[in-house]
Amino acid sequence: MHIKFIAQSGFIISLENGQSISIDLWLNNPLMPLELVDVPKMDYVFTTHDHGDHDLTSAIEIAKRDNAWFTSSYGIAKYASEQGVEKVERGNVGGEYSMGDLDVIQTLAFHSSDIGNPVGFIIETNEGTIYHMGDTGYFNELKFYGELYDIDILMVPIGSRYTMDSLQASFATADINPEIVIPMHYNTFPAIQQDPKEFEFQVKERECNAKVKIMKPGDVLEY
Ligand code: ZN
Repeated sequence: MHIKFIAQSGFIISLENGQSISIDLWLNNPLMPLELVDVPKMDYVFTTHDHGDHDLTSAIEIAKRDNAWFTSSYGIAKYASEQGVEKVERGNVGGEYSMGDLDVIQTLAFHSSDIGNPVGFIIETNEGTIYHMGDTGYFNELKFYGELYDIDILMVPIGSRYTMDSLQASFATADINPEIVIPMHYNTFPAIQQDPKEFEFQVKERECNAKVKIMKPGDVLEY
């Protein structure tokens, strides 16, 4: 799979079978702004919560444009249905369900959301398992997720103020023990300045073998 980092918490994942996944694309982000026409055709659209930097409005537009599957926690998914998205999968924390060719597990996220509740997603594909944590503080159940699921690629927020900082995120990474960890949700605006190199150092201090992959907006990771 190709994993393209857009900015903040936004990723576009292209699978070998030709299908594409978007997670929390923020089109008006200051680092790599995109027009809707710049977003390739999506088969699956994931939204962790409805804060502006996770751009629920565009997620709904993309899902409608491409007749893609849309998923989020119950209240947000219900809202997307009301806005005219046809293929909506509703879930909530702890739930596991199929969506097209994917298996999805919704995880806790200690955060807030104006509609519904914030979540993270474990996404099982034929090419590996991704865990996008959404926006969250640290929580103890991460150890349980690490035991239960074999995570290949973890996307973890490190920006502080609204989410974990890099130190807390290094403990979260050690709990989950992925093969690769991608720091996200930092340096997009002044309130969330962090040094990802410090995160990399802190992960090593945890004696965690996860490979830290620092991505600039537009970078692609081949997995
Ligand atoms: Zn948020």
